[in-house]
Amino acid sequence: MRFVLALLAAFVLSVSPATADALTRALNRAIALFDAAAPQMGEAFGVDPRQYRDALVMGKFERGGQTISLYYEEKTDPAGHCGRFAAYTMLPPRDGVVRLVVCPRFFSPGADALRTLTVLHELVHAVTDANECRAMAYAARIQQRATGAFTPVDAYWQANNCAASAFSLP
Ligand SMILES: [Zn+2]
Repeated sequence: MRFVLALLAAFVLSVSPATADALTRALNRAIALFDAAAPQMGEAFGVDPRQYRDALVMGKFERGGQTISLYYEEKTDPAGHCGRFAAYTMLPPRDGVVRLVVCPRFFSPGADALRTLTVLHELVHAVTDANECRAMAYAARIQQRATGAFTPVDAYWQANNCAASAFSLP
């Protein structure tokens, strides 16, 4: 798990040292949760567990013979997506790169659980698509399988009409 710290420098390209530090810690927690949950995850919700882990740990993954890299970027566009999200993922990948934008809200004091959940959630987008229900269902399942509990996301679930989707919370 520790080696992520060294690797991160290779794929975080446009963030300040403080951001890189918070991201590294959130990524390390997310990896620990995923590895604890992995034996029970299978191909849940259509997410390829190897692509997911590669994206999480190495910042890149293989799909259809192509390597797709993650590019973490710090933004402060309160009038844009950062007004609503802690982070967001820009899809589809362009020229083999998926950009993950980290917003100021990501750095709220004491929001370790939010940061970890955000990373788990955004990484689902990075390796699949923009489906919010899939991303939240998969992130919640990782938390639940790893720790026996998951962050309540009822408001989010309702706002995205996920009850009518093919996905479900634990
Ligand atoms: Zn999302």
